[in-house]
Amino acid sequence: MAEVILQNVSKTYDGINKAVQSVDLTVEDKEFVILVGPSGCGKSTTLRMIAGLEDISEGEIFIDNKKVNDVPPKDRDIAMVFQNYALYPHLTVFENMAFGLKIRKYDKKEIKQRVAEAAKILDIENLLNRKPKALSGGQRQRVAVGRAIVRKPKVFLFDEPLSNLDAKLRVQMRTEISKLHKKLDATMVYVTHDQTEAMTMGDRIVVMKDGFVHQIDSPLNLYNNPVNKFVASFIGSPSMNFIEGEITKREKLLFKSLHNSIEFNIPSKYASRFNSMTDSKVILGFRPEEISLIPNDFESAITLNAKLEVIEPMGNEIFIYFTLDNQQITGRISLAKVPKAGEEVELFINSENLHFFDSKTESRLTRSNE
Ligand code: ADP
Repeated sequence: MAEVILQNVSKTYDGINKAVQSVDLTVEDKEFVILVGPSGCGKSTTLRMIAGLEDISEGEIFIDNKKVNDVPPKDRDIAMVFQNYALYPHLTVFENMAFGLKIRKYDKKEIKQRVAEAAKILDIENLLNRKPKALSGGQRQRVAVGRAIVRKPKVFLFDEPLSNLDAKLRVQMRTEISKLHKKLDATMVYVTHDQTEAMTMGDRIVVMKDGFVHQIDSPLNLYNNPVNKFVASFIGSPSMNFIEGEITKREKLLFKSLHNSIEFNIPSKYASRFNSMTDSKVILGFRPEEISLIPNDFESAITLNAKLEVIEPMGNEIFIYFTLDNQQITGRISLAKVPKAGEEVELFINSENLHFFDSKTESRLTRSNE
């Protein structure tokens, strides 16, 4: 197994616009790294450059210490699993899985043994004689993964492999691919637009937007310490709440929202960051679970009054929606007594877990563990 290194890698399709811009990334040996971001952010292009399916416009890519810029895909020792499975319809499952080995002229015994081994890992031993049309979506996906496993490649590349599956199967396959990663002890790079998939599967996540990498971090660090407003809003569901405002100094440092409906003293742990600020326009961020309807739920809290507009009981928790400073705010609470829509309530926002971003650059001003 192997390390994958991208050094200052860029891609342009038309010579003008960059689909991928100066990406630096080291995927460690046996690491499971996820590329995530909204549609069009350049994640598939990045993966396809690692695979050798797209030319690299600038920069260098190394697989297992070997520069592969000019190495054709078949010689890169990678295997790729696509969203549409790309199975041959006229071949059986066995033949589909064996195909890559056959064209590489492996002997029959070795092929049989490798397919049997992969089929066992994926629990598809009883499907080997079927054609793809006689398989469910999940089974087809497994065959596509099997075809990659039999090759015993240095690196596995996945391009949105679960997007065509229904929600329940997607969750199931998510766990299976995570287990597979542990079992095979393989280097894996996985592309998805789904932040939940990224958060639950990856050792590390690369968050991309407009061709740029915004943050590379562990799932928890991304969640707790997003480097900018984009990462903060993209990671986490429901999304982080944002309120524009400014920091002003009276006797103490104060946050005042743009439309004046929220005002509080800046908790001391964040204060040092603001003393040196010249432009005081900021965006306040707090996650839905940092809201409570119970007094003293948090050690220190910002207290507000609001009218609950929509209530969504989810079973083990309740989503509440209300408007604050012209912004729709989402809260995620657990309560024995479900409040009613239209009710005026007292709300508490945990003041120990706030995020502040610069209004202009949208970069992080504070870290939550400061
Ligand atoms: P993602 O996988 O994040 O959805 P892509 O890597 O597919 O994004 O695309 C990144 C950008 O490159 C997009 O703006 C897309 O329109 C453009 N792009 C992708 N493939 C091609 C292509 N073959 N020719 C021209 N532009 C492309």
